[in-house]
Amino acid sequence: MATDCIFCRIAAGEIPAGIVYQDETVVAFRDIHPQAPVHLLVVPREHVASVDDLSEAHAALAGRLLTAVPKVVAEVGGMDNGYRVIANTGPDAGQTVHHLHLHVLGGRALGEGLVA
Ligand code: AMP
Repeated sequence: MATDCIFCRIAAGEIPAGIVYQDETVVAFRDIHPQAPVHLLVVPREHVASVDDLSEAHAALAGRLLTAVPKVVAEVGGMDNGYRVIANTGPDAGQTVHHLHLHVLGGRALGEGLVA
């Protein structure tokens, strides 16, 4: 755990968050500044800074992170018509929290454009 990492601290239960799902590997909670009717963040408990920091050693973690998404979606509801999964990576993508996270956005039609 990185003690100066807000998502590590949420995963450890040190900072309150709207947690909607957790298991031994993954925690999911509501984004504090939602950009869609449903906006969730799915993060590994282990500190990995971004997608760009993933290596073969993280294969199980990455798999668990992605396979948690449909469980989280089923748990929260409201996304029967689909949702979008995004992993901002690095400055050009606007990554602001340097702990790997998947945005799960849904609850309305999100449009065709992937970028602004
Ligand atoms: P990114 O720009 O991809 O790094 O996204 C980071 C996301 O974390 C943003 O959408 C923020 O609104 C969200 N965020 C930051 N701090 C918190 C927090 N304490 N609880 C929930 N979401 C947060």
